[in-house]
Amino acid sequence: MSSPRKVSESTVRRLSSYLRILKELQSESTRTVSSERLAELGGLTSAQVRKDLSFFGNFGVRGRGYDVVDLRNALTRILGLDRPWKAVVVGAGRLGSALTSYPEFPNQGFHIVGIFDVDRSKLGKRVGSCEIRSVEELRAYAARESILVGIIATPKSAAQDAADLLVAGGVRGILNFAPAALDVPPGVTVRNVNLAIELEGLSFAITAANNVGAALEAGELD
Ligand code: NAD
Repeated sequence: MSSPRKVSESTVRRLSSYLRILKELQSESTRTVSSERLAELGGLTSAQVRKDLSFFGNFGVRGRGYDVVDLRNALTRILGLDRPWKAVVVGAGRLGSALTSYPEFPNQGFHIVGIFDVDRSKLGKRVGSCEIRSVEELRAYAARESILVGIIATPKSAAQDAADLLVAGGVRGILNFAPAALDVPPGVTVRNVNLAIELEGLSFAITAANNVGAALEAGELD
């Protein structure tokens, strides 16, 4: 099932997208799905779907497509979502507070169990089901609670310190919202989230579509 070959970030994103589609199909009591249908729902080609899934195993049944429940279970395992994950947030500002109080993460297997800040006036206040704690407690808390996932929502200037504390506390994966390049030891994974990049992708897509439309109108394309 698992493969020693490196799996690209874009493949992992597509696996997450297949999983969402399969959950939806299962909720509609759909039992099997073809690669063509999965591709249509995910905005991909069926060859891409078959390639992605065959990388991890032999899931399809010839002529019938994929069993929705079996494939959902397999992708859940592959993505490591067959266990709950405990996470902490560093930075109880606008973003950190919004993430901590977002009620859907637990349904997706991610439980934000702690939120930390340096601002003394915030300590003890509640965000979602968490009480804001001092960042001075972060390292010991992460180690004690066996936290493996940390989310950084501090200003850029504090992000490396936050990452160092998380790593010292045993965290193995960091979702970094701060616009800072983090230095972490081998074995720790950082995922940078930058909504501006997503917006730029959107801007490119709209611009490119307009350019194609204009070229078609001008008769420059077939
Ligand atoms: P904010 O100012 O509302 O909150 C930042 C919080 O971090 C404050 O509560 C502050 O006291 C706390 N903080 C400062 N130093 C700290 C430290 N050493 N340890 C712990 N906490 C500390 O900011 P915001 O709007 O919530 O944004 C947070 C971060 O997310 C910023 O770096 C911002 O640039 C980034 N951001 C990224 C995206 C994105 O798409 N990636 C979107 C919005 C914001």
